[in-house]
Amino acid sequence: MVSGSCLCGTVTYEVQGPFTSMVNCHCSMCRKQHGAPFATFLPAPLAGFRWTGAEAALVTFQSSTRSVRSGCKTCGAPAPIVLPERNMALVPAGPLEGDLPLTPQMHIFVGSKAPWYAITDGLPQHEAFPPEFGVQGVERPTVDARPGVTSGSCLCGEVAFEVEGDALIMQNCHCTRCRRARGAAHGTNIFYRAEQFRWLRGAELAVDYKIPEAKHHTVTFCRRCTGALPRVDTVRNVAVVPAGCLDTDPPLRPQRHIFTAHKAAWFAITDELPQLPEAPPPLFPRT
Ligand SMILES: [Zn+2]
Ligand SMILES: [Zn+2]
Ligand SMILES: [Zn+2]
Repeated sequence: MVSGSCLCGTVTYEVQGPFTSMVNCHCSMCRKQHGAPFATFLPAPLAGFRWTGAEAALVTFQSSTRSVRSGCKTCGAPAPIVLPERNMALVPAGPLEGDLPLTPQMHIFVGSKAPWYAITDGLPQHEAFPPEFGVQGVERPTVDARPGVTSGSCLCGEVAFEVEGDALIMQNCHCTRCRRARGAAHGTNIFYRAEQFRWLRGAELAVDYKIPEAKHHTVTFCRRCTGALPRVDTVRNVAVVPAGCLDTDPPLRPQRHIFTAHKAAWFAITDELPQLPEAPPPLFPRT
């Protein structure tokens, strides 16, 4: 039995095997909802899945004709996808507590993978769903890139933004908060100065959730689809963009892993990037 929860702790669930597979999905819908390079799902038999808290606190969004996704109303964290017609639940592995009996076995939808993310492990890669899944993926519109501008949008598309110029840093964060907020192995965030950032539409749909016990850690998501959105902090003059919601290729690649002491046990870092066990030094030293 393993259990999981959203970032704010309202949405909780328990899941029991037998678990037979674990999959990293790189499709654009997973990237946008989670704001991460890919989502990892632990499929479980429906009989083994149980909401233990506040199922009513979910916002649901029809992301395609067949697929309904949901996330926490308060913190936006992606919730398990329950599929009664397939007699299964797809549980995001990022927030799961306890040792899982297996590790990811394949990458799916690498045909729509983020251009800024390199797969460096040796797991099998499928362009879309492997044939044995018996279902088809959904194509999404692409956005034309403009020089010097990186743009993105939420899962439902009602909120869109762009950032102009060079980024300060791009990093993979393995902290427990990011794993809960993103429902993924890790978050990948790009940091800009706040003045480089602008909302193009739907800013009124962007909801902030600040972790009560944290000094700054705040996540932003779309009220309608719970998809990840950038967090704009005008006081600290920083805009933190979850790279998964980007529609165009940013001008840089992930430069390091941070908080690796808090990494998910089932996720192996297989690239050569530097690893910081805890927090990195402050981006802007105090004056
Ligand atoms: Zn929550
Ligand atoms: Zn997906
Ligand atoms: Zn949205």
